[in-house]
Amino acid sequence: MQMPHPSQDIISQRETLAAGLRQIVGSEWVISDEVERKPYQCDGITAYMAMPLLVVLPASTEEVRAVLRFCHERGVKVVPRGSGTSLSGGALPLEDGILLVTSRLCSVVEVDAPNRVARVQPGVPNIAISEAVSHLGLCYMPDPSSQLISTIGGNVAENAGGVHCLKYGVTADHILGLQLVLMTGELLQLGGAFLGASEGELDLMGVLTGSEGLLGVVTEIAVRLEPVPEVARVISMSFPSVEKACECVGAIIGVGVIPAGLEFMDRKVLDAVSVLIRERFDDRTEALLLCELDGTAVEVDALVHVVSDVARAQGAIELKVSTTEEERQRIWSSRKLAFSAIGKLCPDYYCTDGTIPRNKLPEVLNTMAELSEKYGLDYANCFHAGDGNLHPIIMYDAAKPGDLEKAEAFGADVLIACVNVGGVLSGEHGIGVEKRDLMTHQFTDVDLHQQQMLKCAFDPQELLNPGKVFPTACRCAEFGRMHVRGGALRFADIPRF
Ligand SMILES: Cc1cc2nc3c(=O)[nH]c(=O)nc-3n(C[C@H](O)[C@H](O)[C@H](O)COP(=O)(O)OP(=O)(O)OC[C@H]3O[C@@H](n4cnc5c(N)ncnc54)[C@H](O)[C@@H]3O)c2cc1C
Repeated sequence: MQMPHPSQDIISQRETLAAGLRQIVGSEWVISDEVERKPYQCDGITAYMAMPLLVVLPASTEEVRAVLRFCHERGVKVVPRGSGTSLSGGALPLEDGILLVTSRLCSVVEVDAPNRVARVQPGVPNIAISEAVSHLGLCYMPDPSSQLISTIGGNVAENAGGVHCLKYGVTADHILGLQLVLMTGELLQLGGAFLGASEGELDLMGVLTGSEGLLGVVTEIAVRLEPVPEVARVISMSFPSVEKACECVGAIIGVGVIPAGLEFMDRKVLDAVSVLIRERFDDRTEALLLCELDGTAVEVDALVHVVSDVARAQGAIELKVSTTEEERQRIWSSRKLAFSAIGKLCPDYYCTDGTIPRNKLPEVLNTMAELSEKYGLDYANCFHAGDGNLHPIIMYDAAKPGDLEKAEAFGADVLIACVNVGGVLSGEHGIGVEKRDLMTHQFTDVDLHQQQMLKCAFDPQELLNPGKVFPTACRCAEFGRMHVRGGALRFADIPRF
């Protein structure tokens, strides 16, 4: 993985820049000491690391504006960061760029219960929004598994999804307004607390949501609040084969049920999890689906019957339906512990996320098995089956030379397989640096050019989070992944290696 060459000129100005930034945010909120910068050198992808030039923690929108203006005037790059849980390297620092961390922008500014809107700062952890309004019987629906720690600003930048997004929609469906600071320090207000993007206005909020910190720094968000469903029950359904479980996913949606969540775990995940939950899964089980149904009590009872009948017809071996909240939580604990459980099976793992049409699940899962043989690396599967959002967990040992490269190539081949069956490179983790060089597999040159033009409209000097999302011509040439259409070589004047 390559990043733009750091500017030695900027690096040599570290202390002068630190002094200027301390004037803006206060001396203790600019971290220049090498040891203290270390915790920030990667995000959720620990395979990629870089030491940030400086870490800066502003406490208000005005401070964010002043920091960005200061950097803009001096040509200093800026990487925004929430909690650093990105799984695509979106918050990977730059050696010649400051890391602008939103941890101090962490207030729920206003809760407007009658209108079911909350205004929050970007550093508020996702779960804290629901906690702040739970006494009103309300919640914030999008629930990434990282919700205890990931911030709402990071969720907006990645358009995060989660277990309940199958029924309720992803982050973009729950954002009504955004306040954004451009790289110049100018302030932009998009949408509104009540209307979202208004009629006749370009949907810039849609553009911003999922823009991975490339267009501006989000400093305030108006989120939609929803009533907490009256009842939620989960059905655990075990199947004798991966194929049967996958077919059941399509069959459930096919009868017109949209579960609140529909998750898949394979045998390897179940074996790993059973150690942590001290419960064995039936030996005949090769795959397990967890299907959550919510709504009124009458509605949920009826849906439980429908889904149970479908699962039996699709060859489910065993069904367990939660009857109490405690049981529901216990059944879900297997899914919630899945990633930590797999972490105990191998020194390192690499998790990527492509999304495919549901009816292609068996085909792509078979391809994964073949790729595992090809690369000689083990893998496990635990993913949001209802919306076809795959999360293959590829196991490797970073201490073994060449293993990381093999894991990366395995992950890339899975993503290409997703695109080849009509899917997309990312369901919720974003492109970042991880999938950057695969963009040419999904998008044409025209698509990419238009996306780059949009980036230029917001940040013509490319100071905000550069090196992410867009493949560079240099990199494509070096890695042989360049996509040439109709023999027309782009950037023909750039030397190729
Ligand atoms: C265990 C685990 C489970 C996860 N489960 C899920 C899941 O179920 N669903 C899902 O979607 N993701 C999941 N993720 C990925 C990750 O949590 C999400 O992408 C999350 O939205 C990132 O939030 P963050 O605060 O950590 O952002 P960061 O990682 O700090 O940053 C992510 C991106 O957002 C940008 N950014 C951050 N704040 C701002 C801001 N204020 N303005 C502009 N840009 C900003 C950064 O530059 C970067 O590009 C998981 C991660 C982990 C580690």
